[in-house]
Amino acid sequence: MSNSIEVKNPATGELIKEVGVQTAEEIHHAIEKGHMEFKRWSKVNAHERSKLLKAWSHKIQENKEEIAKVMTMENGKPLSESLGEVNYATSYIDWYAEEAIRIYGRTVPAATESKRIVVTRQPIGLVAAITPWNFPAAMMTRKAAPALAAGCTFIVKAAEDTPLTTMTLIELAHDAGIPKDAIQYVNGKGSEVGPLFTNSPLIRKITFTGSTPVGKSLIKGSADTVKHVTMELGGHAPLIIAEDADLVLAVSQTIISKYRNAGQTCVCVNRILVHESLVDAFAEKFTKAVAKLKVGNGLDETTDIGPIINEKGFDKIVAQINDALEKGAEVLIGNKYQVDRDKGYFFIHPTVLKNVDASMDIMQEETFGPVAPITTFKTIEEAIEIANNTPYGLAAYFFTENYKTGMYLHDHLDFGIIGWNDGAPSAAHAPFGGMKESGLGREGGIEGIEPYLETKYLSVGNLVN
Ligand code: NAP
Repeated sequence: MSNSIEVKNPATGELIKEVGVQTAEEIHHAIEKGHMEFKRWSKVNAHERSKLLKAWSHKIQENKEEIAKVMTMENGKPLSESLGEVNYATSYIDWYAEEAIRIYGRTVPAATESKRIVVTRQPIGLVAAITPWNFPAAMMTRKAAPALAAGCTFIVKAAEDTPLTTMTLIELAHDAGIPKDAIQYVNGKGSEVGPLFTNSPLIRKITFTGSTPVGKSLIKGSADTVKHVTMELGGHAPLIIAEDADLVLAVSQTIISKYRNAGQTCVCVNRILVHESLVDAFAEKFTKAVAKLKVGNGLDETTDIGPIINEKGFDKIVAQINDALEKGAEVLIGNKYQVDRDKGYFFIHPTVLKNVDASMDIMQEETFGPVAPITTFKTIEEAIEIANNTPYGLAAYFFTENYKTGMYLHDHLDFGIIGWNDGAPSAAHAPFGGMKESGLGREGGIEGIEPYLETKYLSVGNLVN
């Protein structure tokens, strides 16, 4: 392993900070510390764990402007979005601080009078997390908060592009009084740290947010030690605009869903499916709204669209645009770039493509960029068929004013998260996660603490009545 990571600002290519990388031996040591601390932390009273989580949330809120600035510098997203993410990240800690004191068991009526059956829940042990660069705060807290609330200890490896936000948040957890070995970070290359996590018998669970291929490799790697896994993987969200949709609402919500974080979110719209009778009206209104979005450095308060995270991401997006154009798509706006490969910055102006069809890569591959492909459908059944026709099943959106159409779409779309007239459905109090190759398990809501708990059942016999 190299012994440092250069964290660069994707808006300028400038070096922000060099951070140390742990050796394999140091990572083993961190795993052992987390395992040893589990014996103590799991016995800390749930009310005390709840208080410590609340103190962590408070510390983050006290420092939110500074954290948001660090996030914008390493990730590129506009400062207002970074502030929004800090609040979103904190909302998971607040939610699970409350859930910590609601981990209930139950009693089950036994079949004989001389027995009692008692079901209890206990934390599963040391949890290892691997997180992506696109939400460096929230993707970590929505794993760490339920883990700590349940009584598990936690160790995380953040993405190499964005380790600083994670490091800052974890240092604040320690300042708030959460024991140092109960929540730790390590830095390093995913392909090297991943196997150290999966091979360790001391780690009882892997929780991962990132791409589907890496998720599959972590599931395979977890098999030998039969670890629990939670996988928040890639998406390819369809957004359906039905014949009776409120177009003004559909345009404003599609802008939010598509262009937040420059289109680099797992739930962002990847395919816009418009009823054929509305496509011209929608395309005109949508393109006008897109024209108002300003591209630039996220630290500039007027910026709406920041840079693409890195060269690999940029090349993939441009290849998808070019493939669509070669196969007959039309550019309504965008397809402009500001790029300096030597300095290392990559901006793509928000782009809208029309006349997109199923033969184009953009209709199957996750884009992760500010490109909105528009296609059409004739019937709701056809829209559902197109929508379900990828290996992904994370988020889907639809716009309709008709409750029968809405419920029909809800019932037939194979996605874990559905926004009906809503382009921003994520919330700490709701279960987030995907079907099919978009993942396993849910984060958020009452469901989000379950993956950190084991169920134990006690049968007491030979009782005298
Ligand atoms: P990625 O390449 O899978 O990387 C995510 C994390 O995995 C990083 O920390 C990375 O470390 C690590 N990693 C890479 N190769 C690894 C390996 N062989 N073993 C173990 N860890 C490894 O994904 P990304 O491109 O950063 O993130 C975008 C993806 O995340 C998209 O597919 C997106 O849809 C998905 N995502 C999903 C959700 C959700 O909730 N479902 C939310 C956000 C993002 P390095 O940085 O060192 O490579």
